[in-house]
Order: sequence, then structure tokens, then C-alpha cells
Amino acid sequence: MRFKQDFFEQLDGFYTQVYPQGISNPHWLGWSDDAAQLIGLEKPNDALLMQLSANAAAPGASYYAQVYSGHQFGGYTPRLGDGRSIILGEAIGPNGAWDVALKGGGPTPYSRHGDGRAVMRSAVREFLVSEALAALSVPTSRALAVIGSDLPVWRESQETAAITVRLAKSHIRFGHFEYFCYSEKGAPDKLTQLLNFTLAQHFPHLSADSASYKQWFVEVVQSTAKMIAHWQAVGFAHGVMNTDNMSIVGDTFDFGPFALLDTFKEGFICNHSDHDGRYAFGQQPGIGLWNLKRLAQALTPIIPSDDLIAALNRYQPSLVSHYVSLMRAKLGLSIDSDLGRAAQAEREKQDLALISQFTVMLENNQLDYSNSLRKMGKIDISSQYSSLRDDMLNVSEFDSWYQAYQARVGDVADVAAWQQQRNQHNPKYILRNYLAQEAIIDIEEKADNSKLIQLQQLLTRPYDEQPEMDHFAKRPPDWGQGLVMSCSS
Ligand code: AMP
Ligand code: MG
Repeated sequence: MRFKQDFFEQLDGFYTQVYPQGISNPHWLGWSDDAAQLIGLEKPNDALLMQLSANAAAPGASYYAQVYSGHQFGGYTPRLGDGRSIILGEAIGPNGAWDVALKGGGPTPYSRHGDGRAVMRSAVREFLVSEALAALSVPTSRALAVIGSDLPVWRESQETAAITVRLAKSHIRFGHFEYFCYSEKGAPDKLTQLLNFTLAQHFPHLSADSASYKQWFVEVVQSTAKMIAHWQAVGFAHGVMNTDNMSIVGDTFDFGPFALLDTFKEGFICNHSDHDGRYAFGQQPGIGLWNLKRLAQALTPIIPSDDLIAALNRYQPSLVSHYVSLMRAKLGLSIDSDLGRAAQAEREKQDLALISQFTVMLENNQLDYSNSLRKMGKIDISSQYSSLRDDMLNVSEFDSWYQAYQARVGDVADVAAWQQQRNQHNPKYILRNYLAQEAIIDIEEKADNSKLIQLQQLLTRPYDEQPEMDHFAKRPPDWGQGLVMSCSS
């Protein structure tokens, strides 16, 4: 790894230097070749294992924990910070730099009452989902590796510690801006410094002046909208959309009790602690806006309110347009690029209605989200019959929807090519919670990570038929349905 240290060198006062503490008997549980390429690495080796398990210093690393705050479940916590994630610096790759962080690297000044560790099950889940979402083109932080150990840690019972090696284009969160707005040392100098750094690093097409600040916030609103559109389209529930878990570059970030939907359910809650369903699957678009409003509030010392409000107003249309375009690709609804603006807007409204009717049917019939879409992509669109019809209780409701759908799809000259395209947008294999759970149990009980590796490899090619792996595409068994994860990670 070749590091630069821009955050560390330019943002004194925005972090505390802290050295990670090694874990005993470190061993690779997982490694991502794709993530490794991003920072110019090839294969894992023993020296890297020692460095990434914090048992040896990584040459060129600085080791620090960032300070930030955030709104957690609607309430403001004035100081959070990296309680168990220690950043080594920005590793230089062929197409840009990536922060390298050891999540679970030991206590920091921000650990509060925590031990600074991550348990194996949560480290494995973060590793798997980062790479799985990337393969589905969802904007996300990445995971280079997950390293197991025999270090005991206590949660509800004794477990073992692990480290996820996270790669992120940025670790700057909405909560960073909140901290430097509301803390005593705060606004506006530190806010301006943080914003200028963010612009230089991640928005290099924008300069550091007030017109650019305004444009920058528009881009933050849009990239957040786009990220959440992706979540809704693939059926991803984040579970803990606190503002400290929202990345300023619009990447999915800080995975905890997340889930990919099995059965489609708007109200699905994956987080055991989320009693009111604040972060339920169907609430995510609204919470995205709520979080952006908290960010906007924190920016009022340096960006005029009118500009912030104008940008926020672009959130909903931007989210809808991204979502509709992702769903059009899944369902095979093509659009005529010659349509005028008004006609396009009208078409978007109609398509959104058609898509919503479809998901309502899935919900009413308790159908699997990804498998149903995959099935839809296999239909002979010219025929009156769709195999999904057999899954419906209310067949006449489906028939009338299908008629409208067929009319919207229109004539398809080459059905096989049309189906092939659908397969490129509707994954056959997703990271179902029960699959992650099975991989974790094998590691826990048999020290066997082969299922983890198998799953990871499978999920890097989620759209390809892999017949020998068909069992991984099944709906969960009874024990694995609607698994709700605890926050204790
Ligand atoms: P999260 O819910 O993972 O986003 O974490 C919220 C806050 O709690 C962040 O400041 C984390 O760094 C901190 N935190 C979570 N788990 C631990 C832990 N085991 N030890 C120390 N801090 C933690
Ligand atoms: Mg967090």
C-alpha cells in the first residue's frame, strides 16, 4: 500500500492520532481481489496480514480516528467519532485514492463505553455486503478483507473479534459537518476548512467559492438521492440511517443490521432496536431527505438558506427519476429519447404507477422481491401468459396489471435478447441474511470459511446463471425468514 496523508496533514483538530491494537492469531477469513485492485494490491500475503490485523506497522500509515457527531434515531448526539475504526491514510490506486480503515482495530478516544472491537459476525457481514452491493452497481464503500482472530469479546455472550478492512473514497460523514457547526470550537472557520477540503478531494471540478458551495450541496443532494434510489431498486434496507452513517460522497456506508429483502415488504424493519420502524425499508427515501435537512442546517453558517432549500427541493424528483430509470431497466420499459420534457415527466409518472402496482402485488402475495423480478425478465413478453401469474392469489388483479405492462413494453423484435437484457439488471443471487448467517455459523462452529468464500465469489457475478450454485438463489428456510439483526456488533 502506498499512502498519502491529506486528511491527517491538512485537518489538524479533526481527528486524534491513535494506534490500533493487534488481534491474536490473525487469519484471513476473506479477501476481495476486486477491492485490492482499487489500491494497486494483488494477492494477500503474510506481511499484509500482520499490518491489517494491527500486529505490525504499515509503512506510510498515520493511524487516526476522526471526530464527528450525528443524529441517531432522530436525536442529536453531540460527539460520536470513530469509536472502533482507525484510518491508516489514503492508499493510492490506479484510479484514485481510497481511505483504508481497520474497523474493529481497538479503542480510541471516541469509544465511549465500547471496546473498540467488532465481532466476527458483523465483520463478515460488512465484508460480504460491501462487495455484493458493488457488484450490483450500488454506490458503496468497499471491503478489502476480513481478518479473524481468537481474541474474545463480550456482547450478549462471548464471541471473537475480527477486523474488516474498509476502503472508502471518503470517511467524511454528514455528522462531521454537524460536529463542526455545533461544537464550541465550531463554525464557521472549521466548517469552511472542512468544506474546502471536501471540495478539493472529492469534488475537484468545483472551486472553493460561494457559487461552488451552492453547487456542491446540489450534488450532495443528488448523489444521496441516487444512492437511495439504488437501495429501493435492489431491495436493500440499511437499518441505521443515522446522520453519522451518511457519507458525504453518497456511498452506502457503515453496515450494521442491514438486509436485502427476501419477501417484499415496505414496512420491513431489519434492526432489532428500531421499535418504531423509523428506518423501515419504505421509510428510507424520506429519511434520506430528513438527514439532508440536518446537514443543510449545519451548513447555514456558510451557505445561504435559500440555496440550501433550493437544493433540498431537488431531492425528491431526483430520487424518483433515478428509481424509475433503474426499475425500467429491470422491467424492460424502454423510453423514447425524442420525447419532450413534459411528455417525459408524464411517462415517468405513469411508469412509477405501474412499478408501484407491481410491488404492491408482490407485497400482497408475500412474494420474493429479487426472484419475482428475475422471473419477470424470463417471460415471453409476446405471450398472454406469465409464470409470475401462478404465484398470485388475486389472478385478475395481476391480469389487468400484466395487460397494461405488456402494452407499455410494446413490440419486442428479439425476445431472447430482451430477456438477456433483463437478466443483466435482475440479480439471480443476492446476499440474503440467511446465507450470510450460514457462512458465519460455519466459521463459528467449524472454523470453516469455505462458505464465506463461495458466497463472496458467487455474489461478484450476481446476474450470471451458475447452475451448481442454484441453492443459493432460494428463498430462506423458515428459520431464516425476516431475520432481524441486533445492533450489538
Ligand atoms: P454505529 O451504530 O456502528 O454507526 O456506531 C455508532 C457509534 O458508536 C460510532 O461512534 C461508533 O464508532 C461507536 N461504536 C460502535 N460500536 C463500538 C464498539 N464496539 N466500541 C467502540 N465504539 C463503538
Ligand atoms: Mg457509524
